[in-house]
Amino acid sequence: MKTGAYGDLINRQRKYFRTGATLSVDYRRAQLKALRASLMKHEGDVIDAVYGDFKKPKVEAYTSEIGIIYADIDNAARNVKRWARPRPVVNPPVHIYTKSEVRPEPYGTALIISPWNYPVQLLLSPLVGAIAAGNTAVVKPSEISARTSSVINTIITDAFDPAYVACVEGGVDETRALLDEPFDYILYTGSTAVGRIIMEAAAKHPTPVTLELGGKSPCIVEDEAKLAQTARRIVWGKFFNAGQTCIAPDYVLARRDLKDELLVHMEAAVGEFYGDDPKQSPHYARIISDRHVDRLVSLIEGERAAVGGVFDKQSRYIAPTILDDVSPESKVMAEEIFGPVLPVLSYDTLTDAVEFVTERPRPLALYFFGTDKQKIERIVRETSSGGLLINDTIIQITHPRLPFGGVGPSGMGAYHGKASFDTFTHYRSVMRQTNLFDLTLRYPPYRFPFWFYRQVMKLFR
Ligand code: NAD
Repeated sequence: MKTGAYGDLINRQRKYFRTGATLSVDYRRAQLKALRASLMKHEGDVIDAVYGDFKKPKVEAYTSEIGIIYADIDNAARNVKRWARPRPVVNPPVHIYTKSEVRPEPYGTALIISPWNYPVQLLLSPLVGAIAAGNTAVVKPSEISARTSSVINTIITDAFDPAYVACVEGGVDETRALLDEPFDYILYTGSTAVGRIIMEAAAKHPTPVTLELGGKSPCIVEDEAKLAQTARRIVWGKFFNAGQTCIAPDYVLARRDLKDELLVHMEAAVGEFYGDDPKQSPHYARIISDRHVDRLVSLIEGERAAVGGVFDKQSRYIAPTILDDVSPESKVMAEEIFGPVLPVLSYDTLTDAVEFVTERPRPLALYFFGTDKQKIERIVRETSSGGLLINDTIIQITHPRLPFGGVGPSGMGAYHGKASFDTFTHYRSVMRQTNLFDLTLRYPPYRFPFWFYRQVMKLFR
């Protein structure tokens, strides 16, 4: 792929953006509607493609790739008029008679790069924000979920003129060639390692970025109340999409006296959800690629599986696996698991659990199961993570009014709902000065005593 390969495409989009066509709220709403219609037309193709890529169960495909996007689109279409309205601001005394406002303006041409694990959601959800904010966009789905990538291309091509929204399929070479272009905004979702490459490439222009990255999201279990329900919620959040979820609980920290009972309940939940042989279950996905299977198998090896632990490389199946007696120094605790393997560790005091979490990189999500208000308050105040969910797993992502994003190595910036609009919006300050009078004391030569200027500065507050 030669440098500048996408120059023509980007120039077309820039030219289109400069016509101002994308600015009206009616236009943005119409485009959101077009995206909705195209997705609806290709619903069946999406479900088939994600099944083809990694046997994603139909209900999981609909809820996490399609239904969630309709919710996103409808929310944006309903609110975009309000979001896009300029906001007048109150003047300090010194700016009396000026008119000042903050105007939400689109950045221009945005680039959205997405991963394979929720291949449709993680591409279309940011796109909804880019469209609502009035940008043109180039979207780059993951080559690893190849069937879905092709369906995404069809959805985009059916809905939009490429001068407005275009889809570029391909892998590392294509992404690098895109990154050579001077985009006005980049939203990247994927691993922290590639996130660094994206940021480096963006620095050349420089282009502002949102990075939605990964990491090890802990799940602390501190309360004996409703332990069976706790187990179900953890097992569901972990094995949904076969654990290939950025916010899946990566590992469990269970209070020592609760751990054994929790394991019993988790085993029961796995049986309840996927039957005696999860391989036969139509509700359990496969691993995306042979490389990922090998990586996950190497994490299980040498560990004690309390549940599962079996795999079949041929069909890229790894059983829902729960590991007991895991050492914090083990390989499975050294990297993001990103698959259906759940180590369970124990701790003695909540202080130990908090320390365990805070001495590691700040995660994308933190889960805490407990009902004691003081303990919850401690978790809120003493830990840091992209998001915090008490008494459940992964559902925070579905809340339209909660920004979603990481912190530190788990990412920067956020999106979803209004936050998506904000991400793709430049908040431009516009000030209209009065000509009624001219404060000449600001001009040199500065003829007033110094104390006078000190007093004048108070009028800026
Ligand atoms: P991936 O391999 O599909 O890569 C993501 C994108 O980056 C793809 O479009 C790919 O073409 C591109 N890419 C890959 N290597 C590149 C390179 N060297 N240069 C330029 N572009 C490159 O997905 P992945 O990275 O395996 O995704 C899994 C990771 O993503 C996990 O760490 C997971 O936690 C994280 N993730 C985060 C979120 C979030 O919302 N924060 C969501 C999903 C996944």
